[in-house]
Amino acid sequence: MIGRVHSIQSLGTVDGPGVRAVVFLSGCPLRCAFCHNPDTWDPHAGEEIEASALAERLCRFKGYFGSEGGVTLSGGEPLMQAKFASELFHLLREKGIHSALDTSGCLPLTPEIGELLDVTDYVLLDVKFENREDYRRFSGAELGRVLDFLSELDRRKIPTRLRRVVIPSMTDSDESVLGLAELAAEHPSVVGVELLPFRKLCLSKYEAMKIPFPLAHLPEAGYDEVRRLQALLDAHLAELQINE
Ligand code: SF4
Repeated sequence: MIGRVHSIQSLGTVDGPGVRAVVFLSGCPLRCAFCHNPDTWDPHAGEEIEASALAERLCRFKGYFGSEGGVTLSGGEPLMQAKFASELFHLLREKGIHSALDTSGCLPLTPEIGELLDVTDYVLLDVKFENREDYRRFSGAELGRVLDFLSELDRRKIPTRLRRVVIPSMTDSDESVLGLAELAAEHPSVVGVELLPFRKLCLSKYEAMKIPFPLAHLPEAGYDEVRRLQALLDAHLAELQINE
């Protein structure tokens, strides 16, 4: 099975448990206003590679993964290449390597995606906006799909970490953050919730692609404010007894 890979980050520590190799797959059907990786949108771009060849390449890092780490498939949207991802995760599982999906959860639950989830050990699920209107307006997709996906993760008991980018004036209210904790409490698969700061380092990518960055007018999120919101979130999660 051949897939398309945008890039590989050999060893990262922010996209799932432990030390991980992160593979960014090409192609994304969403257009999030804050997207950091517009260069991954094109499903026809990137390097074509056999799942077996990619698995072999990733196995070379196995010694660095330790007991917790492994491989994270990100993008783009990895669910767009579910068959390829599923074959890759099968091969990694045979080698004893932990697999994580970093996804928007926005695609319909097809049998191919079900097969991918059969071999997925952990999920990072972006819950980008808290209500359906904002979700549709600023990402072009349906929040309902994400919630259906999350329910499927519950059913399968796949440990899941929710994530959201803190965007000044859009997703940075205390209510928004506490709402995320409440959502976590409704879903037994959720083991943690993480806030990420809105950054504009991606501006040069938009310039190179000659497309406007929709949130260029907003300031970046301050680290102190994101830390404060994360502390508020963690305190609420502790009350709700949700922790990794
Ligand atoms: S899902 Fe991710 S890659 Fe796709 S547009 Fe949104 S932020 Fe960008």
